[in-house]
Amino acid sequence: MVQRRTGFAVSWQTLSPILGIFRVQPAAGGRFPDYEAGQYIALRREDCALTRRVTGADGRTRYVPDVDASGRQRRGPVSHAYSISSAPYETAQEGFLEFYVVRETDEDGRPGRLTESLFRIEPGKDDEIVYFDRIAGDFTLAKRAAGFPHVLMVASGSGLAPFVSMIKQLHFEAGRGPGDPARYTLLHGNRTAEELAYHRDLETIAAAGRLDFTYLATVSRPASSGHDPSLGRGRVSNVLRLLLGLPLKEEEDLEAAAEKGEGVETARAALVRAVRPALPAGAGADALRERLAPARTVVMTCGNASAMSDVQRAAQARGIRFEKEDWKPTLYP
Ligand SMILES: Cc1cc2nc3c(=O)[nH]c(=O)nc-3n(C[C@H](O)[C@H](O)[C@H](O)COP(=O)(O)OP(=O)(O)OC[C@H]3O[C@@H](n4cnc5c(N)ncnc54)[C@H](O)[C@@H]3O)c2cc1C
Repeated sequence: MVQRRTGFAVSWQTLSPILGIFRVQPAAGGRFPDYEAGQYIALRREDCALTRRVTGADGRTRYVPDVDASGRQRRGPVSHAYSISSAPYETAQEGFLEFYVVRETDEDGRPGRLTESLFRIEPGKDDEIVYFDRIAGDFTLAKRAAGFPHVLMVASGSGLAPFVSMIKQLHFEAGRGPGDPARYTLLHGNRTAEELAYHRDLETIAAAGRLDFTYLATVSRPASSGHDPSLGRGRVSNVLRLLLGLPLKEEEDLEAAAEKGEGVETARAALVRAVRPALPAGAGADALRERLAPARTVVMTCGNASAMSDVQRAAQARGIRFEKEDWKPTLYP
């Protein structure tokens, strides 16, 4: 059985009410296992507000607060996996692991058990985090992208975590040796500019030119005035569609609804609401399309489930090899 060990959050950065970045150090004398960029580790907090499973009269399963006889919600440990956003060289040099997390909310607006607790972290006060002493996962360049001259990384929200680890590590290694001959393109989407974690780091790596690396960021809720032209507009999968010369997801959905004769009004309203995708100013569309040649490209994606499934649809439409990181919940003891 994997050992549980005590660690401490040594920093917490709030990007928005629902997105944060934090670093964990093992307790004195400890050391995290070695890892490859793209892997994950399980974290646990002891004081999470617990839920229980109920099945409604309609047969639907939901999770509701688990309350005791006095009506107080029970508290206890919850463990989940988190992709590591630090690069292996940073951990080797400084000992921390870094994470980029989104605060979970269910369809009834109730907070996720572990992320509610994580977002209460205060370094130096409420900062204990237990970690499982094993780093695992096969969402690595060696396992998913070997042999491809071009790797296209498409990240939605905190799905950037494995990719930022990969790019930082490649940049570091390129500074010490011959460098990686493959081309890398990273497309990251979030709602607002503030939520685009690691934006400056990634811009700096792209500008340094040690790697053949292109970085594009897009926001799905662009400011109505003063939108930063160096950012794209629209959801990340629609920006990918724009690059691949495909219709918007909402246009395809409307066409499918019209064919079926069902849900046409809903699909039309979604299309009206959709932010039309646009590339960042100065991003050369022709050069980007040349990079994306389907036979030479593997698309790796991570993030929210609907964005990943749309990236898959787009990749399949163009015959591009598709790889994803599934953030399916796993049970930890
Ligand atoms: C390999 C991997 C890597 C990941 N990396 C990241 C990352 O880098 N960043 C990130 O933000 N997230 C990541 N995740 C997601 C993360 O593991 C958690 O699932 C997420 O943070 C939500 O946790 P939570 O406890 O707040 O939500 P939960 O309370 O677990 O709620 C999430 C859903 O689980 C269900 N649920 C609620 N209560 C229960 C219960 N008692 N039993 C069973 N199911 C229940 C409900 O459907 C709910 O909507 C990763 C997941 C995996 C598998």
